[in-house]
Amino acid sequence: MTLSFRSELNSAEVSLSTQNQPKITDEEMMQAVRTLLLGLGENPDREGLKDTPKRVVKALQFLTKGYHESLDELLNGAVFTEDANEMVLVRDIDIFSSCEHHILPILGRAHVAYIPNGKVIGLSKIARICEMYARRLQLQERLTLQIADALQGLLKPQGVAVVVEASHMCMVMRGVQKPGSWTVTSAMRGVFAEDARTREEFMNLIRHNANFH
Ligand SMILES: [Zn+2]
Repeated sequence: MTLSFRSELNSAEVSLSTQNQPKITDEEMMQAVRTLLLGLGENPDREGLKDTPKRVVKALQFLTKGYHESLDELLNGAVFTEDANEMVLVRDIDIFSSCEHHILPILGRAHVAYIPNGKVIGLSKIARICEMYARRLQLQERLTLQIADALQGLLKPQGVAVVVEASHMCMVMRGVQKPGSWTVTSAMRGVFAEDARTREEFMNLIRHNANFH
């Protein structure tokens, strides 16, 4: 297990501005995939590869569709006033992301907890927030912070805790080739950052293995 904590990444903000860049068509993207195939020594006109450029472009667009989603749209008003102040935890949220260095899969799970301060959010929306940020080209550290900051901003809770455990295919399949290596990243806000007992309670809850599915 590799533990990664990057203190220099204080802000999850990342510039996604493409305003000054020309609009790229699907056709141009398909041409680029065709060029890649040629560069790899393949024959893009053989039967099995004929539709590959189209399929690759469609797959990449799906895997990065989070660029075209926003918190506002996704929540659609699903924040409610509620006099609750016990920890809410959603664990084992599947993460399917892509690393921004190699565009290879990052597969893992997220565990997200918060302690409300007058506002709660639909539980399924927590998974949707994770998905929106995961479906972009990512760094695991940034993904973790973005999920925490989104909940912090939306709910102004007493605290937020996010732990992401993931395996990076760029490490598993190439480079250091370490199958079974996991990277764990965490972001703690409010009481989870300030109070060791609250943090420990959360860590104990996510350590327990759920066995009912
Ligand atoms: Zn990578």
